[in-house]
Amino acid sequence: MVQDQEVLAAEMERTFIAIKPDGVQRGLISEIVSRFERKGFKLVGIKVVVPSKDFAQKHYHVLMERPFFNGLALVLLFAMVWEGEGVIRYGRKLIGATDPQKSEPGTIRGDLAVVVGRNIIHGSDGPETAKDEINLWFKPQELVSYTNNAEKWIYGDN
Ligand code: UDP
Repeated sequence: MVQDQEVLAAEMERTFIAIKPDGVQRGLISEIVSRFERKGFKLVGIKVVVPSKDFAQKHYHVLMERPFFNGLALVLLFAMVWEGEGVIRYGRKLIGATDPQKSEPGTIRGDLAVVVGRNIIHGSDGPETAKDEINLWFKPQELVSYTNNAEKWIYGDN
């Protein structure tokens, strides 16, 4: 029973993924969505956001002291919440290292970006951040729960 609850909790893991202005302008939305979708993760929230500078800076508040903070212009975002087992950690793997020069080929930044200041995508870096970022960018009623009929083919019957 405890094990069932653990499985359920793991399946409900969610992360915040955002395609940054450079990714949107370069027409990479469908390419990026498709990588998460083909992996087997489930899209449970999505919107295009044009945030105020103040609001966008809340997202990156932990970087306030860094020299590049003022250059972090989240003026347009394709914001998403993805759900699935291990989605926070694996989402970061799909995205690749912060600096695209150090991202492996096959990752989103490795394949589609060149410099750190235009690395096209954001993904939460841990469970607490994921929770905070989802709450910052989405109201609870903007997130949906549904059964994806492919789930038993992705996770098995357990
Ligand atoms: N960034 C930058 N220069 C740096 C480090 C980071 O422009 O030297 C930007 C980059 O867009 C990065 C964002 O700041 O994605 C947030 O940095 P973080 O260290 O949180 O990396 P991430 O989690 O995005 O990989």
